[in-house]
Amino acid sequence: MPTKAQAILKTVFGYDDFRPLQEEIIRTALQKVDALVIMPTGGGKSLCYQIPALIFEGLTVVVSPLISLMKDQVEQLVELGVNAVLLNSSLTQEEYSRNRNRVKNREAKLLYVAPETLLKPDILSLLTSIPVDCLTIDEAHCISEWGHDFRPEYRQIAGVRNRFPGAVCMALTATATPQVRKDICQNLHFQNHKEFIASFNRENLFIQVVPKSNALGQTLDFLKKFSGQSGIIYCFSRKQVESLAESLHAQGYSVRPYHAGMSDEERKENQELFIRDNVQIIVATIAFGMGINKSNVRFVIHYDLPKSIESYYQEIGRAGRDGLRADCLLLFGIGDTQKIRYFIDQKEDPLQQQVARFHLDSLVDFAESRECRRRPLIRYFGEAYEEENCGMCDNCTSSGQKELEDITIPAQKFFSCIYRTGQLFGSAHIIEVLRGSESQKVIRHGHNNLPTHGVGREFSAKQWGHLARQFIREGYLTKDPAYGSLKLTPKALEVLGSREKVFGALQEEALEYGRGKEVSEAYDKTLFELLRRQRKELADRANVPPYVIFSDKSLVEMASFYPQSVQSFMRMHGVGEAKFAKYGALFLNTIRRYCMEHQIKERPKQRPLPVSRPKPEAAPKPRHVEVGEAYNSGKTIRELMAAYEVKLPTILEHLYKFYQEGYKLRAEELQALSALPAEAQQKVFFVFDKLGTQRLRPVFEALGGQVAYEELHVLRLYYLNR
Ligand code: ADP
Ligand code: MG
Ligand code: ZN
Repeated sequence: MPTKAQAILKTVFGYDDFRPLQEEIIRTALQKVDALVIMPTGGGKSLCYQIPALIFEGLTVVVSPLISLMKDQVEQLVELGVNAVLLNSSLTQEEYSRNRNRVKNREAKLLYVAPETLLKPDILSLLTSIPVDCLTIDEAHCISEWGHDFRPEYRQIAGVRNRFPGAVCMALTATATPQVRKDICQNLHFQNHKEFIASFNRENLFIQVVPKSNALGQTLDFLKKFSGQSGIIYCFSRKQVESLAESLHAQGYSVRPYHAGMSDEERKENQELFIRDNVQIIVATIAFGMGINKSNVRFVIHYDLPKSIESYYQEIGRAGRDGLRADCLLLFGIGDTQKIRYFIDQKEDPLQQQVARFHLDSLVDFAESRECRRRPLIRYFGEAYEEENCGMCDNCTSSGQKELEDITIPAQKFFSCIYRTGQLFGSAHIIEVLRGSESQKVIRHGHNNLPTHGVGREFSAKQWGHLARQFIREGYLTKDPAYGSLKLTPKALEVLGSREKVFGALQEEALEYGRGKEVSEAYDKTLFELLRRQRKELADRANVPPYVIFSDKSLVEMASFYPQSVQSFMRMHGVGEAKFAKYGALFLNTIRRYCMEHQIKERPKQRPLPVSRPKPEAAPKPRHVEVGEAYNSGKTIRELMAAYEVKLPTILEHLYKFYQEGYKLRAEELQALSALPAEAQQKVFFVFDKLGTQRLRPVFEALGGQVAYEELHVLRLYYLNR
């Protein structure tokens, strides 16, 4: 017997399952116990008060800081057939009194108000004359001076709370810091309240960090995969926003800028065009995003370094609210960090300096890390992340550790050329000298007479550029933030003196986008396009954003199950009664026609698609367990490679993961797999004894790069299981 809340979830919202914590939060509200709810952006906070609002007899008042947010929420609710209204300063007098009357007549179930509107005497007396069951404070961090968006009016909400003795209070935010949490509870005089803190892991976001080399080219390359799909590109400065928007426009993209230097109207127009899918891409400074509920943002690119881990996470959080896969790309420029460090050094206030350094260091750690991207991100929010491999970040999906080459000789050439030119020049000039250029600048400085002139012709300028960036990244060189000249660090002197070797990649790796998993089933792209076009037409006619009619996820389900009867259509994600009554026939017709033309049969939707984490009992065995058990039962590694159609490193990865979960592996075959003579194996084991087995890179380096990574993977497994 489903509870009332469950029934509403399906009939009104069209969703099959609650997300984690939603059900408990709803139950708490129904018991009239105050609650503080902390969930990441896109986590599903709205439902937590909207469902109780539909169960309560009286009104639910929702305080919200932004007019655009209120409008968006009310539009979505009205589409769902819910009686919701808003009151704020943007309404005409007629609209205002019409909405006011609907509250007074007790027609409205939800009232969205701006805080200053709530405090108006006439609104207060109106609200005290009718039963109010719930007072919701959305974006509750606005109460706290420690939040990133303090609003003084929010402080006064507490003062009106006791006017509604029968109302339970629910405060919601995506800001998790303890200080903000404490401020919220104190300000609202919470006593005996409950706190709910959801996981900050957003599983459907693919997270990728790439060294910035040619930012525009990298962006264009990335965009190829997202033809016609919505996305946001964040830049540091207004100037950068303008110029990138222009470049993309010149390349034929549908794009608009957004930054604080534009007029309110311009910004509003561009935001609206984006929300309505009339414009594909917004290039923006961080001023963009608050108040955006658009659920089908498929990518977020950080063209420049974000301000902090927290703002980075907020910004990528705007992608993939519908639960489908979304891609997040951070272009990480070593030059950018050096510039920021330079600015930090100029700051006068030592505390400010310290805070800024902390934020930058955490970001750099995150960007340079070779472990799962989710670990540092989620750890930052005070949550442990236990998963070994998330399958949805660049580090977890890369094919094992990169093979590093010995690049000591080119490094020595490069460093020596820097030294001989007095550490006064940037990499472009150094590369010219190395490649034997006779340019004016080279001749003018007499650099054509240096012994390093022309000793680097074996590499292209591009390849040298790639090497130079690695030298900077690995701390052999620093770049003067003001002039760009390169300086040698003590580490580089060790290399020049042949006391240390350098390992790295000679060739720039081709960027790979789109690894990781699709979060939905494979779907029919042609049908999806048809449905998407239909949705756009309907949305324009109703003057609402397309995702308000159906989310991308709903269309994806329709285009993978081909529902052709009313019953099966009702089973689709996001199809509740109101939406069905309004749009069901139209969409069903399109699907039926398409299926008839292509002779496609309906596919049954048995279980709901996993919205977030698959339930443990329903989950199939993870691949590494399958592989590990098969191996232990006697299958050879070659057989496993054939059975799963994968290469050796993948099998080794599975086995290692299996081992890490506490299983032992048959050892003898592992040893046989090694190509090294016993004596050399002993040497490797000796280094494992000394350095441990957690990370292979130090082991690789300690062995002077003599033993290949693949070999180390094999021997580590043997070493651990012998
Ligand atoms: P936020 O926490 O940022 O306020 P929202 O409440 O706007 O997030 O929800 C984000 C998206 O997730 C919305 O499109 C919403 O309809 C969807 N959503 C919320 N709960 C569920 C659920 N249980 N099943 C499916 N989709 C959900
Ligand atoms: Mg919200
Ligand atoms: Zn990962």
